[in-house]
Amino acid sequence: EKGSRKDKNQNIQVFVRLRPLNQRERDIKSLGVVEVAHNREVVVRQSQHNSHTKKFTFDRAFGPHAKQVEIYQDVVSPLIEEVLAGYNCTVFAYGQTGTGKTHTMVGESTSDQHTWQNDPLAGIIPRALSQLFDELRLSNTEYTVRVSYLELYNEELFDLLSSSEDNSKLRIYEDVSNKNEVYKIMAQGQDRKRVASTLMNAQSRYIHTLQVAPNFIAGRNIGNVRVAPWSETFPNLLYSKEISFCESNTFSLSSVKSDLVGMAGSDNPAKKERARECVNINQSLLTLGRVITALVERQPHIPYRESKLTRILQESLGGRTKTSIIATISPGHKDLEETMSTLEYAHRAKNI
Ligand code: ADP
Repeated sequence: EKGSRKDKNQNIQVFVRLRPLNQRERDIKSLGVVEVAHNREVVVRQSQHNSHTKKFTFDRAFGPHAKQVEIYQDVVSPLIEEVLAGYNCTVFAYGQTGTGKTHTMVGESTSDQHTWQNDPLAGIIPRALSQLFDELRLSNTEYTVRVSYLELYNEELFDLLSSSEDNSKLRIYEDVSNKNEVYKIMAQGQDRKRVASTLMNAQSRYIHTLQVAPNFIAGRNIGNVRVAPWSETFPNLLYSKEISFCESNTFSLSSVKSDLVGMAGSDNPAKKERARECVNINQSLLTLGRVITALVERQPHIPYRESKLTRILQESLGGRTKTSIIATISPGHKDLEETMSTLEYAHRAKNI
């Protein structure tokens, strides 16, 4: 029974990353209420006394000392081999604001040049780009890489490579031939993202509910056989990258913000606006769960069209698919409610 269950779940792997207590939390002598045990278990202390604990088991759990390279090697590197073997792979980070999605997906470059090369703090995206370009070069075949950079906010799509305000336009792709060109585009997009968030922040006054979606696409021409038909929609929530090899084998990396707790039923208008944003995010995540279930169970109808997120991820979820979720959590007591909600979502995804 255990074996068959494992086989069934090979398509979806769920990981958790617990960040360290930050300076602010240490300053106020905040207690960590979450721990990682045996590389697989996340234990949450729900009351002052040790009596109330809840334990979740995942494919792998990373504690506060886990290094960027460890996450990359365990979660992403094997998927790149799968992509080369013809699978569509998706990795997304999911979690409350401030828990380490950006740290995990993008990382922090210690140089101002954003070259990322050999940077111990480089996250998944620069490492994946590096491995992919290296393997493409080694494979000695002709390839094409295109990049797009998108932001999904409140179910609305923004093209960060476009200077136009008109979002209905076709997506812009930039052709690139090496990692450095991609890093440059990442930086440009991030500048635009800052501008966009300032604008949106002025409207909603809640910058931390932004949904951001940088997005990278690459395709390989296998010999001269066929050029990959570029699908018109590849956007993603938050940091994302898609690599599409010939017949649309894709690789995507994205991240999704959650601020789901305590929002519904509020009378405060500003909070109501946030609640609406949360409903949209929630809708996307629930639909994503249903899409993954439908795929795993090989149901005839896959409900991609029921949310923008799943429409966006359709290319990378369809067909022979592997999906990895990295849930990011805080150890802090004040984040307990969000942490539980993230762990429960992640755990549900694991049991699909
Ligand atoms: P998010 O993208 O989820 O909002 P960030 O990635 O911006 O969160 O992380 C918030 C802060 O915590 C950043 O200053 C980041 O450097 C730090 N941080 C997050 N995860 C870790 C980690 N595993 N180790 C060290 N610092 C981390």
